[in-house]
Amino acid sequence: MENMLNKVRPETLLLQSEHQGGLVSPLELSSTFYREIDGSYPRGYSYTRRGSPLRHELEQKVAALEGGAGAFAFSSGMAAISSLFQALKAGDEVLIPNDCYYATRAYLTTVMSRWKVTCKQVDMTDLEALAGATSSRTRMVWVETPSNPLLKVSDLGGIAALCRNKRLISVCDNTVAGPLMQKPLEYGFDWVVHSLTKSLNGHSDVLGGIAIYAGSSPLVEEVRDIQVLGGAVLAPFDCWLTLRGLKTLVYRVEAQSKAALQIAKFLEGHSEVEKVHYPGLKSHPQYDIASKQMRNFGSLLSVQVKKGEAAAMKVVGATKVWARATSLGSVESLIEHRASMEDAKTLTPRNLIRLSVGLEAVEDLLSDLKAALDDI
Ligand SMILES: *Cc1c(COP(=O)(O)O)cnc(C)c1O
Repeated sequence: MENMLNKVRPETLLLQSEHQGGLVSPLELSSTFYREIDGSYPRGYSYTRRGSPLRHELEQKVAALEGGAGAFAFSSGMAAISSLFQALKAGDEVLIPNDCYYATRAYLTTVMSRWKVTCKQVDMTDLEALAGATSSRTRMVWVETPSNPLLKVSDLGGIAALCRNKRLISVCDNTVAGPLMQKPLEYGFDWVVHSLTKSLNGHSDVLGGIAIYAGSSPLVEEVRDIQVLGGAVLAPFDCWLTLRGLKTLVYRVEAQSKAALQIAKFLEGHSEVEKVHYPGLKSHPQYDIASKQMRNFGSLLSVQVKKGEAAAMKVVGATKVWARATSLGSVESLIEHRASMEDAKTLTPRNLIRLSVGLEAVEDLLSDLKAALDDI
């Protein structure tokens, strides 16, 4: 399969499997593998923490989708994210967005601070502010674009160039956009991370994460050690489910983005709505950058309602087609009052509802939302 990887388009690649007779890669759950009499491992696998056939296939495919040289799959998005922080040294500082995914910020401020790795929040949409925030201790710049849940867009090319100049390690959490929509490594980023839990698997039945590196990226050996020695690896069945989910990624992303744009436009015109956050709207402050660096605008949007938190809660409580649950990028449309899901330090506005658009008929999603908003 390796030879195929760079020759075909993503939608084709995701449908190729290791040619062992079946069209679907076998679900090998074994935690250990036979050795030959001379001690060697016939297929290169010894023990599943070190490596397994399905994990290898998944890592190769996602690395190819992102244009990376390789990848490490973990048991959650946070395990992939924290592997990069654990690869740093005491005294290092990470610059993170001021609307960073709450668990990423919380991991740095609670766990990593005990290891003397610190973080500072900056507005990643402002290159001058980012340049001004760097110091001799800064080692890594962490970007999320579009961000979650405010959908702010940062300039991938500008940030990658700044990091190269200042010799900083650049990482993009590409979970919200996904590899078909936006490829940070093409702009010179060192690392990309994903929560596989979201659009890559897409079916709300796997918790997983992956970190992808470019050919010349720093920290590759460190992250490899953290994966195989730390052991927070993705289990074979979860790899198998994710490979299955990936087969339809191309079409899910297209349909969900199209429906999300339609829903964002509807919301923008509703009298109870104060503000809609979606990079595909012309009113989005970074619409020009989003149009340049994204091929689609994605399935995630958020909306602030005029009458405040109680009204936001009421809308979320009134929808019937939208599932009242957290997460994003799945085939089911999800709605949530975001601030109450995050921790106490969140800056997410209290009147904000986050929506992840799935694959239901868009007419049903629209009429459900309209009924809930009209009833505030
Ligand atoms: C969900 C999410 C994560 C965390 O992933 P888990 O699989 O839940 O650990 C990280 N970053 C972003 C942007 C996410 O949406």
